Amino acid sequence: MSKVDSTKDLIKQINGYHAFINRSGELISHFSRSGISTYISPASLTLLGYESKELIGKSIFDFCHPQDQYLLEQIFSPFLQSDTEKKRTTFRIRRKEGNYIWVESTFIIIDSEELFCISRDVTEQKVIEEELKANQDKYQLLVDNLLDTVGIITLNGIWIYINEAGKRLFGTIRSEEIIGKSFIDLFPEKERNRIQECMERSLLNLSASLNEVTILRQDHQTKQVELKFIPTIYKEKKTYQVIIRDITERKKIEEKLQQTEKLSVVGQLAAGIAHEIRNPLTAIKGFTQLVKENYTDEYLSVVLTELEQIETIINDLLILAKPQVEIIQKVDIRDIIESSITLFHSQAILSNCEFIVNINFKNQYVVGESEQLKQVFINLIKNSTEAMPNGGNILINADIVEDMIKILITDEGVGIPKDRILKLGEPFYSTKEKGTGLGLMICNRIIKNHSGSLHIDSKVNEGTTVTIQLPRVP
Ligand code: ADP
Ligand code: MG
Repeated sequence: MSKVDSTKDLIKQINGYHAFINRSGELISHFSRSGISTYISPASLTLLGYESKELIGKSIFDFCHPQDQYLLEQIFSPFLQSDTEKKRTTFRIRRKEGNYIWVESTFIIIDSEELFCISRDVTEQKVIEEELKANQDKYQLLVDNLLDTVGIITLNGIWIYINEAGKRLFGTIRSEEIIGKSFIDLFPEKERNRIQECMERSLLNLSASLNEVTILRQDHQTKQVELKFIPTIYKEKKTYQVIIRDITERKKIEEKLQQTEKLSVVGQLAAGIAHEIRNPLTAIKGFTQLVKENYTDEYLSVVLTELEQIETIINDLLILAKPQVEIIQKVDIRDIIESSITLFHSQAILSNCEFIVNINFKNQYVVGESEQLKQVFINLIKNSTEAMPNGGNILINADIVEDMIKILITDEGVGIPKDRILKLGEPFYSTKEKGTGLGLMICNRIIKNHSGSLHIDSKVNEGTTVTIQLPRVP
């Protein structure tokens, strides 16, 4: 078929469709190559508010929105080849009432003289599209300004998007330093396995998170972060969305709080300990007097024993007060419990509390930091003595339960109302005049860091039991 024939055929087809299209509410028009309309279908009345005859002979450019003129200029360009190629464009056109509507028009260039055009009203779609776009922009703005890092990485672990916070976190201002690079390479060697494992886990569970991960910045600073992976679709491809929260500051504050609480406990214990030291000192003084007058080995050995007792107490107190460098090692859990109790001897006597201790094992170890674990027991025992102002028993039971060490600290004190138990562990929640409300929070944190659990059961006016479980070294 020649080109002319095929064009004619097309026109025939078009005319055939006229009647059909007219009913469907679409506007059909013919234009000269300079944009003057030669035919406008009756739909112009509903669509544009004009009778067809009001528009015939007018230029389309007189009705087109000034900002969209360029779109039509491309179509009505005299340089455009006259062939049966279709051109589609969406532009705003002015109605008789003066408002603009969006129309999507398909132009068919028939020959060097004429264009044929079908238009439909797409205002509603356009408005929705624009709202969507505005929402998307808002969302983008939100993501860009989040304090947390939000990024998209491919299933192969390559960055394809990172927000502003992310660039700051990794110590760069240029996206190119991250986009296209490997995600995992931003983490030190030792962290990579568990990150990889977490990413894989997220694919199965919709999301997965990791706590306390170290990152490597370009300036060789390290930061502590939390990671969360959410499998997502980005630009029609399966990807991970990653959210990274910088917890470096929070960790610092937690450490400071821990130190504050420690000093406060130490301060409060000091008075009792002074008392504790006075007893052996009195004995030492007395026996030294006796030695002076009447030398015997027996007296001297009493003096030595009492001196050793003082030494133990003072050492414990000093170690507790000093900020510690964390030393993770195997620690004897019995030693920890017993030396924590020692610090309370005098206070227990003063407040009429009695310790009943059953540690049903020997030579059992947990991996951790002994001074931190001691702090847990000291905080808990202190709470128990404080809960029994008129005295009572403090039961300390420790057992092996499968691969855990289970320690129960039970008092017969005032107890904690149910609704308050939920609040425990929040900082600064205290019912005591001189309380800091930090004790339990720190216990929780230390136990969590040791991969253990801490649980509180309590009945008002009956007493409280704190259960701690720690994994034991097999
Ligand atoms: P603080 O002892 O400085 O108040 P904690 O965090 O150690 O802070 O304890 C918070 C609160 O929990 C206490 O003020 C008290 O109300 C309650 N509490 C903790 N342990 C016990 C307990 N053994 N018996 C009764 N109440 C307790
Ligand atoms: Mg306390």
